[in-house]
Amino acid sequence: DYAPPPYTGPTADEIMKKRKDFLSPSMFYFYNKPVNIVHGKMQYLFDENGRRYLDSFGGIATVCCGHCHPDVVKAIVNQTQTLQHSTILYLNHAIADFAEALASKLPGDDLKVVFFTNSGTEANELAMMMARLYTGSHDIISLRNAYHGNAAGTMGATAQSNWKFNVVQSGVHHALNPDPYRGLFGSDGEKYAKEVEDLIQFGTSGHVAAFISEAIQGVGGIVELASGYLPAVYSSIRKAGGLCIADEVQSGFARTGSHFWGFEAHGVVPDIVTMAKGIGNGIPLGAVVTTPKIAEVLTRRSYFNTFGGNPVCTAAGLAVLRVIERENLQENAHVVGSYLKERLNALKDKHEIIGDVRGRGLMLGVELVTDRQLKTPAKVEILQVMNQMKDMGVLIGKGGFYGNVFRITPPLCFSRGDADFLVDVMDY
Ligand code: PLP
Repeated sequence: DYAPPPYTGPTADEIMKKRKDFLSPSMFYFYNKPVNIVHGKMQYLFDENGRRYLDSFGGIATVCCGHCHPDVVKAIVNQTQTLQHSTILYLNHAIADFAEALASKLPGDDLKVVFFTNSGTEANELAMMMARLYTGSHDIISLRNAYHGNAAGTMGATAQSNWKFNVVQSGVHHALNPDPYRGLFGSDGEKYAKEVEDLIQFGTSGHVAAFISEAIQGVGGIVELASGYLPAVYSSIRKAGGLCIADEVQSGFARTGSHFWGFEAHGVVPDIVTMAKGIGNGIPLGAVVTTPKIAEVLTRRSYFNTFGGNPVCTAAGLAVLRVIERENLQENAHVVGSYLKERLNALKDKHEIIGDVRGRGLMLGVELVTDRQLKTPAKVEILQVMNQMKDMGVLIGKGGFYGNVFRITPPLCFSRGDADFLVDVMDY
């Protein structure tokens, strides 16, 4: 029954014209007619006509506390009125407090040195550079179907053809994707891990800088890694002198429900953890957390960047951590996510077009195929369903190598009722 304030700005058509004239020509849209989103409140978005949409995409797995969460807004406003920016070369408690709070969320005593960046791409760029400096090796292993960002280094680690722009991207080797649904060895994690050992032996000098991986691939279509894979690979990488980097840009900040970080479900402890998206509930912020020993390679070189650790962003970050804890958002992601997954699996039994349902917590994927045996990607059909869902008031994400996977990554305050509405609309 919430009604947003009346909107008096330009219409969708007027904005569309400006986008066409003034924004980069490569802009792509999910919808035949993109929506003009003018207002957000928790798990809901509103268009120019005050029409409400259930946001099942969460601004690409970013708005974890809910749109315009009052506590996050208050923290941002207070900090903006107090000190909007100075430089990380001076001291400020908003930055230090958040670094301390963030470090306390990581397992063990070692992962406690925080570097702030402005995005996930930069966090991964920094992590990869750190690993290269620390190990003296240039070789990085990442997974096919991974998405780690789109700057020169991270684009190398990303392995999806639509994100490969032929810029310099040296020193990255892509291992087979341990994808239980489409992977070469099904769900046999050990076989994929053995292939990484071979890759180290035959594709590198035997000494590697790092292995980087998401705990659940997000852009790649919510792909869970085959069980047993990460512990075995971490062990091989460390034997080869390398560091293990966990890219928690999408799977961090309680999204997977069972744990605060996605890697925790695999029983591993990384050497470097990168994060962004949910960290600031939509405020541009990223971070790299590592051990004092590894961090030293950068602190010796006085590494810093202008905006990384901006106090407004870190104040938002601190508010996010408090909201996640106070509102039990991790527990909610687990309970509602499990319920939603159950309902989606029931939908799979009903509709042939659903080939696979996967993911954890509120990071779920639904893969559409036109033939279950052949797993033929339903690329056109997914767009039709997506447009229809929008017309019925549900926004949802899309991804995967073939672009045929629904990505469900809503704000973590998503309720059982929201889950029911989403499934009912998808069912229709
Ligand atoms: N890593 C992962 C797992 C991501 O999903 C993304 C973005 O989608 C990135 C890194 C890059 O983050 P950003 O878009 O903030 O640069």
